[in-house]
Amino acid sequence: MLFNNKNQATIIVTPSERAAESYIEKGLKNLWCKTKESPCGCSCCRMIKNRTYFHQMWISPEKGYKIEDIKPVLHISKYSRSENESFVFILDKAETFTPAVANRLLILLEEPPTGYYFILITKNISAIIPTIISRCFIEVLSKQHDLEHLSKLCQAFTGINLPPMQQLYTILKEEKPDHRVSKQYLDIIRSIHIKESFKHYDHKTSRNKKNRIINLLNLFSQQLPRQGGSDLFWKLLYFSWPS
Ligand SMILES: [Zn+2]
Repeated sequence: MLFNNKNQATIIVTPSERAAESYIEKGLKNLWCKTKESPCGCSCCRMIKNRTYFHQMWISPEKGYKIEDIKPVLHISKYSRSENESFVFILDKAETFTPAVANRLLILLEEPPTGYYFILITKNISAIIPTIISRCFIEVLSKQHDLEHLSKLCQAFTGINLPPMQQLYTILKEEKPDHRVSKQYLDIIRSIHIKESFKHYDHKTSRNKKNRIINLLNLFSQQLPRQGGSDLFWKLLYFSWPS
């Protein structure tokens, strides 16, 4: 869930900017709406929708990020706030962070100042540096067939069937996920399967198989790889996968 104080940084992975916007808007209204009614036309809700509410800042550079684009973030977040005040930064197109931008933001995300929330939106999580990913909670807003922007490893474990073994080995060689990225990928894979288990299936996947997949992913999320152990981790998951 967006905006709880244990989770001040979130990456929203979605192929649809519209989907991310309406999801975030809902979260912001939840935070600040005066009536908590839906639909609501209170002044807060109107300002949230127009992006003029004074405790939110959307950053959406047309052609990718420059350091200047995140200066307001660095500046505003210096002011201290109490825990029940919230200020939310939304950074769109996070896949276009330059290394300089990413590293500057990383310092903030490592120890987010009290009362500040950071939401990064991206179509392509594999373009975000692993150190940022490891600081953030991941939310996937996506349908299975919209996953072409996810990493190939995530795709491999979210399709109807697993790819041939050789293909998995090639993906592991190409993407070389380290133990922290592996944790994030497993979270993504798990959340996609859980989300789907609430929907109607196509006829090719039975509910029983889906449940076994989710149980397996739960089990593996308690046995995450240590440094250097990711390759083996993914191969074990592959061979344990319900047929
Ligand atoms: Zn309202």
